[in-house]
Amino acid sequence: MTFQALKAEEQQYVMNTYSRFPIALDHGEGATLWDVEGKAYIDLASGIGVNSLGYNNPVIVDALHGQAQKLTHVSNLFTTAPMVQAAKTLVTATGMGKVFFANSGAEANEGAIKLARKYSFDKYGEGRSKIVTLLNSFHGRTVTTLKATGQARFHNFFFPFTDGFDYAEANNIESVKERADESTCAVMMELIQGEGGVLPLDASFVKAAEAFCRERDLLLIIDEVQTGIGRTGALFCFQNYGIAPDVVTMAKGLGGGVPIGAVLAGTSCCDVLTPGTHATTFGGTPLMCASANAVLSVVNDPKFLTSVREKGAYLRERILGLGSPDIKGVRGMGLMLAILVDADRRAGFVNALIEKGVLPLTAGADAIRLLPPLTISYAEMDAAIEIMKEVFA
Ligand SMILES: *Cc1c(COP(=O)(O)O)cnc(C)c1O
Repeated sequence: MTFQALKAEEQQYVMNTYSRFPIALDHGEGATLWDVEGKAYIDLASGIGVNSLGYNNPVIVDALHGQAQKLTHVSNLFTTAPMVQAAKTLVTATGMGKVFFANSGAEANEGAIKLARKYSFDKYGEGRSKIVTLLNSFHGRTVTTLKATGQARFHNFFFPFTDGFDYAEANNIESVKERADESTCAVMMELIQGEGGVLPLDASFVKAAEAFCRERDLLLIIDEVQTGIGRTGALFCFQNYGIAPDVVTMAKGLGGGVPIGAVLAGTSCCDVLTPGTHATTFGGTPLMCASANAVLSVVNDPKFLTSVREKGAYLRERILGLGSPDIKGVRGMGLMLAILVDADRRAGFVNALIEKGVLPLTAGADAIRLLPPLTISYAEMDAAIEIMKEVFA
């Protein structure tokens, strides 16, 4: 089917909840994607940070294929080896306690929110349920995680939202202290605000927030849905900051292209959720965990993580090396980067990049966000740079 024919049927049958680019993608190899008309694109988006090992990666394809032949799904009333292995890898790699598997980032955050509230309920009784998040954050699209998101534009239409969230300024510890009161049980943050514009938090702020949480027995929840699984050059971004969170949520890159999320909790709170208090039908299903195990077998390796940092540094240097006055800067960590441009010209740059065969993302008001597959080759990065050279000429 041509793009036009597909688009016509999409408009007839699929809810119009996304402003999609005028491209129908068909297949990929490495960090290159082809549309249904056969045009190739260098992928600097990975879905949205999902296809961490690129396309048609034999490590993932073989894991999915082998597991599909054995057992794709079984309920959580039974134990499976892929689920246990995925949890063991995450716990061993971080020194944390235990894992709950979900299916998406929002669900992982919902699990973390429930965990924090029950932790506090079990220890202090009712009334300590508020969670302080940061302004300009993003935590998901469910009714609760929308409210956890510290951006007023998300708090619309779907009233009533879940109560019990308050918002502090990023990089302002006094603001966190002001917002946290006797009714607070947790502080939740992304270490690099992804949707908000690829904004890394200051290390001193993050350290101070950690110390404040310890002092008040607040759970420190780090939303690593976008920053996790090698994206920033460490398995988890919290490792770059040298902190020990109580709860870490993840999703996007974990499955390498299949839907899986997880709540990883430290030893102080990993037994809070008990039978009957939290569950999801598909969570930890063997097919998704087999894919996650494949991803982790590649990413959870110091040499691979070094390669991510090196590629990120290379890409940053080459982009800045273009010397374009339209490029106001590059920020981010590892292969989570943003090219900063004038907000009112961003759409033009993005459309030109796509037209010439590079797929980027956007974030915040003025960022062209880059989340390439972590396995992107130097040849693919160079090809993308050549196209950027034309666009930012
Ligand atoms: C994408 C994202 C989410 C939501 O994940 P979904 O899988 O879309 O539910 C939550 N938090 C952060 C930081 C994200 O980037």
